[in-house]
Amino acid sequence: MIRDSIRAWVKKAVSPIIESYAQKAEFPKQLIPQLGDIGAFGPTIPKKYGGLGLDYISYGIIMQELERGDSGIRSTASVQGSLVMYPIHEFGSEEQRMKYLPKLASGEWMGCFGLTEPDHGSNPGGMTTHFTEHGEYILLSGSKMWISNAPFADIALVWAKDENGIIRGVIVERGMEGFSTPETHNKWSLRASATGELVMDQVKVPVKNILPNVKGLKGPLSCLNSARFGISWGAIGAAMDCYDTALRYAKQRIQFGKPIAGFQLQQKKLAEMITEIAKAQLMVWRLGVLKNEGRANPAQISMAKRNSVQMATQVAREARQILGGMGITGEYPIMRHIMNLESVITYEGTHDIHLLITGMDITGLDAFK
Ligand SMILES: Cc1cc2nc3c(=O)[nH]c(=O)nc-3n(C[C@H](O)[C@H](O)[C@H](O)COP(=O)(O)OP(=O)(O)OC[C@H]3O[C@@H](n4cnc5c(N)ncnc54)[C@H](O)[C@@H]3O)c2cc1C
Repeated sequence: MIRDSIRAWVKKAVSPIIESYAQKAEFPKQLIPQLGDIGAFGPTIPKKYGGLGLDYISYGIIMQELERGDSGIRSTASVQGSLVMYPIHEFGSEEQRMKYLPKLASGEWMGCFGLTEPDHGSNPGGMTTHFTEHGEYILLSGSKMWISNAPFADIALVWAKDENGIIRGVIVERGMEGFSTPETHNKWSLRASATGELVMDQVKVPVKNILPNVKGLKGPLSCLNSARFGISWGAIGAAMDCYDTALRYAKQRIQFGKPIAGFQLQQKKLAEMITEIAKAQLMVWRLGVLKNEGRANPAQISMAKRNSVQMATQVAREARQILGGMGITGEYPIMRHIMNLESVITYEGTHDIHLLITGMDITGLDAFK
């Protein structure tokens, strides 16, 4: 039921407009309240705070269906749910939960997640964003880069070091003096998602905006685990859309007197695509079962994120070839998916970093440094 209803919404609201928004490099903001209505923001958050209280397989299916539409739309929902609502729910005070979660669930407020810095991407623990405490408030300084939703977000969950060098989560609200969110332009990927910087120059933030219940890198990393789980499902959605498009096209396109779907070479591509999609689906389904049981570990999530995105990039490239010249046009979604997946394979831990996490898990040896 969840799959069908989200798929129907994507078909009606996203598919007809997404290509033109990607071409314009603009996020379709009018979709925000609708994303709230369909339950795409924080579906696993309890109903008391405006969520749906769904399990993790339902969450994964929602991400899969959104990304069939566009990775940028799924990214917006992932950030809101897994990177902003999840930490507020998990590590926030009851006052913070009641203040922010219902508005984030409905889309009345949008959030962004500030971890990456200009000089610290794969190694977020080296961050230099920091704050000093002054009684009832802190003064926060630093800059974050590559932040999805930043240009229009109402709040930013910023990860910063305190005076002892311990990483804390701080909720910064738009309008606070010294806080700005310049947009990042000239992206060839995730063009229908707004990306920006967070610039903080002695921003005065109330102490009560610090998440009280988490300290250290564990805070942002546990958010990333939740988001990476969503990506592992989402990327499969992009692959499914490419496969469906290629299959339909191959059955209709006539060359040498018959549909190209009738040639063995094209059947090999299609057969291998559906096989890889099915294998990835089984992996994320099993991961979802483990997550529902509270038994999914970060290395398993890294393996699934890495596998799904790699699989989707390969499926998308093969699908594009099946469409021949038409495959490079915006008449079909494949080229947009290919370009989007170049971000998806990099953000939330690069392809290489997830391999190193798997390597460390199986050998017990850290090859990061
Ligand atoms: C469109 C987009 C949206 C994003 N949204 C957000 C967001 O909302 N919030 C946020 O905080 N961040 C966001 N990011 C940032 C993203 O998470 C980072 O780009 C990513 O973590 C990689 O960091 P980097 O770009 O600095 O690359 P680097 O860390 O500089 O890595 C460059 C290359 O070196 C490799 N490398 C790094 N370290 C090692 C090592 N130890 N061993 C071997 N190879 C290594 C990497 O795998 C990569 O191939 C976004 C990025 C993009 C592109």
